[in-house]
Amino acid sequence: MRELITPLSQMLKNKEISSVELTEKYIAAIEADNKKYNAYVSTTFDKALENAKFADAMLASGKATALTGIPMTLKDNICSDGDLTTCCSKILEGFRPYYDSTVWNKLKAQGAVMLGKTNMDEFAMGSTSETSCYGAPLNPRNVNHVTGGSSGGGASAVCANLAAYALGSDTGGSVRQPASFCGIVGLKPTYGAVSRYGLIAYGSSLDQIGVLANSVKDTALVFDTISGVDANDQTSVDFNFGNIADTLGQSDVKGLKIGVAKEYFEGINPELKEAIDGAIKFYEDNGAEIIDISLPVLKQALPVYYIIACAEASSNLGRYDGIRYGYRPESFNDVEEMILKTRTEGFGDEVKRRIMLGTYVLSSGYYDAYYKKACLLRENLIADFDDIFNTCDILIAPTAPNTAFELDYSGASPVEMYLSDIATVPINITGVPAISVPIKNDSKGLPIGMQLIGKKFSEKTIMNAAYFYEKNAENGVADFEGGVTL
Ligand code: GLN
Repeated sequence: MRELITPLSQMLKNKEISSVELTEKYIAAIEADNKKYNAYVSTTFDKALENAKFADAMLASGKATALTGIPMTLKDNICSDGDLTTCCSKILEGFRPYYDSTVWNKLKAQGAVMLGKTNMDEFAMGSTSETSCYGAPLNPRNVNHVTGGSSGGGASAVCANLAAYALGSDTGGSVRQPASFCGIVGLKPTYGAVSRYGLIAYGSSLDQIGVLANSVKDTALVFDTISGVDANDQTSVDFNFGNIADTLGQSDVKGLKIGVAKEYFEGINPELKEAIDGAIKFYEDNGAEIIDISLPVLKQALPVYYIIACAEASSNLGRYDGIRYGYRPESFNDVEEMILKTRTEGFGDEVKRRIMLGTYVLSSGYYDAYYKKACLLRENLIADFDDIFNTCDILIAPTAPNTAFELDYSGASPVEMYLSDIATVPINITGVPAISVPIKNDSKGLPIGMQLIGKKFSEKTIMNAAYFYEKNAENGVADFEGGVTL
C-alpha cells in the first residue's frame, strides 16, 4: 500500500507545497466527493486553515516533525474544543465540547491539520456505520457496500483520499474491521497505550483510540505521536515504545513464531480462509515458524463481549438525560417525563437495545448469572492469551469472517451482526494490540484484511511483521484512485 505521510512531509519540507495549499486541496476534494461517500458529518475548514498556518510557521522555523502540516480527521466521538462532536446521535445534536482530547492536543502540537469529524455508528455501536443518525458512509471500493463500523467514516475518508489518516475508536473491532472492509490499515493499540481522555465512552474497559491509515509506516508515525501515559487518563500506561516508525524495515521475519488458532477459521468465508492461508505461507516461505494452536476460549468471546460492552454502555450512557447538554424535547410536564422523552426520542434503536441488555445483565438477580460470569470468563481468556504468547510472538487471524456487507444487510438481524465481530472482540477483551492489513480482493473485488495480534505492548513486533508483508508480499489490493493524490 502507498505511503502517504512521509512523501507529503517531504514535499512540505522541500517547499514544493505549503500546508495551507495542501489543506486547500483536501478541502476541495471533500467538497467534491463527500456527497458520494458521506464520510464527514461535520467539517472544520476554518480551523484546518488555522492549523495549516501554524504548521507552515513550524516548517519555516525548522521545527517540523513527521505529521506537521498533514491533513487528517477525527471520529465524531473524539472531542476537540468548540467543534461539533455528536457520536452521530440525535441525543448529542449540536454538542460542542469545551476541551481537547489528549490525542488531538498531541497532534495539534505537532502541527496536524484537522479537517472535520467522520461518520460512525451511533455511540460506536455497530459493525456497518449504518446506525449513524446522519445515514451510513459508503465504501469507496464499491458504494453499494458498507464501510464497516463503527469508524466507517474515517475508513471511507482515508480510502477515498479525503484525509491522509484518521483517528477512530475500537471497542470490539471498530478500527480494524472498517479498515479491512475499505482496504486500508487499522491499528487497535494495547489497552492503556493511548489516552482515552476526550473519547466519549462506550465500554470503558474495552475502548481504545486507534489509527486508520494508508500504510503500516503511516500508522506507526501516528501511533508514535499519540501514544503515552496521560495524567488525565488513569488507565493509560507509562510504557516506552521508542520510535516504532524508525524500526520498520530493519528486521525480517526469520524465526518469528506465528501462531495459527484453528478456531479463528471456523465459519469464515472460504475465499477469506484461502487468502489468509496464502499470507501464512508467505511468512513461512520467508523463514517464520508457523505453530498450530488451539484456543477453545475464543468461542466464549462474543457473549463475554456483548455482556460486558452492554453493561458498561448502560452505565456510561446514563448521563444523557437532557439536563446538561444535547437534545431536549420541546414539551414535557415534569423532569421525569423530560428524561424519558429525551432518551426515547434521542437514542436510536440499537443504542436502546444495548442499554436495555446492559441494564438487564447488571440487575439484581441476573448480575451473577451474566455480568459476573462474563467477568470471570474474561479472566480465562486473558490467561489463555498469555499462555499462547509464551510460545508465539504473534497470532495471524482474519480481521472479519467476511468482506464488506451490502448496504442494509445489518437491518436483517442484530444477532447476525454481533456474530460477525467474532474475530475482533477477543483482542479488546484481553487488552492486547492488533493490526489489520489488506492482503487481497475477493472475487467481488472487495478487500480482505488479515489481523496480526501480539501480546500487550508488542506494537513494535506486530507493526514490523505487518510492514514486512506490505513491502514484500504481492500487492493484492490496489490503491484507490481519486480524492487528493500527490
Ligand atoms: N461491532 C462492535 C459493537 O458493535 C464493535 C464496535 C466498536 O468497536 N466500537 O460493539
